[in-house]
Amino acid sequence: MDFTKEIQDIALQLFQENKIELFIGYQKLAEENRTVPFIATSAEEAKNLVFNDESAYNLTNYLTMEHAKGKKVGIVVKGCDSRALNMLITEGQIKRENLQVVGVCCTGVKNDKGELYGNCANCIMPDAVIHDSLLGTPKGKPEYQADPEVLQLKEKSQEERARFFEDVFDNCIRCNACRLSCPLCYCDKCAIDQESAAFYNAANTVPNAATALLTWSLHLAGRCVDCRNCEKACPKNLPLHLLHKYNEMVIYENFQHYISGMNEKERGAFYQYKLEDPNDFIL
Ligand code: SF4
Ligand code: SF4
Ligand code: SF4
Repeated sequence: MDFTKEIQDIALQLFQENKIELFIGYQKLAEENRTVPFIATSAEEAKNLVFNDESAYNLTNYLTMEHAKGKKVGIVVKGCDSRALNMLITEGQIKRENLQVVGVCCTGVKNDKGELYGNCANCIMPDAVIHDSLLGTPKGKPEYQADPEVLQLKEKSQEERARFFEDVFDNCIRCNACRLSCPLCYCDKCAIDQESAAFYNAANTVPNAATALLTWSLHLAGRCVDCRNCEKACPKNLPLHLLHKYNEMVIYENFQHYISGMNEKERGAFYQYKLEDPNDFIL
């Protein structure tokens, strides 16, 4: 997958027509041989944009940051990223009229060892679901498949699962990189900030890490788009997707096959709560 030329041309035209003040995309760092987020602020800088198999990060978290607020912004989104964009618009964090969206029909992105990321191997929606221009060939929405690792964990006993997650929480260093890299964690003051949370102290214990990560994953339930920015940012390589993908599966199976961010202005599963909704999935 390489849309470098197309994205440079589109960004250049948008700058020349004064439709954008900045374009959020990717650039290749030649010295490190890595593709990283890049914000072009002029037509001249648009020539530094690239889009390739390593354009892995979901860039929509930059939209709620200070430098983009209130500005006319161009952005490139893959399928999962575009679902986050829909969520941010629906939740009133960004305005659609300020955006020029270049959507990509994605064939998957790879890590620096050339391996396909786990979310791409089991992609829910590869085509951008919101866009002003679309690059690539649409594949349509695949049939929903629960995450194979989540299904394997579900087969284990409650004690085995508890041991597995105790190990995960024990390895968490509470750096908050997961939360800070998530486009859908945008609150200025977070309920799980160590220095401000009243419901647990700041010590980095297993119960405190569990409280923080479980609270976080529940705040993402019905909102997470499986972009895995959080996992890519985690310095301890913790399998955070297992929390989010479990929630996703439960919501899909129990709440009208809901998948987050597929449609603009569509509120999440929790906004469609009915008294007769099932609750037998609660562990
Ligand atoms: S999860 Fe899907 S849309 Fe997102 S990067 Fe992977 S293949 Fe592309
Ligand atoms: S929780 Fe992780 S996978 Fe889900 S939207 Fe946030 S960064 Fe993406
Ligand atoms: S990024 Fe990893 S280590 Fe840091 S708080 Fe999140 S889960 Fe813990």
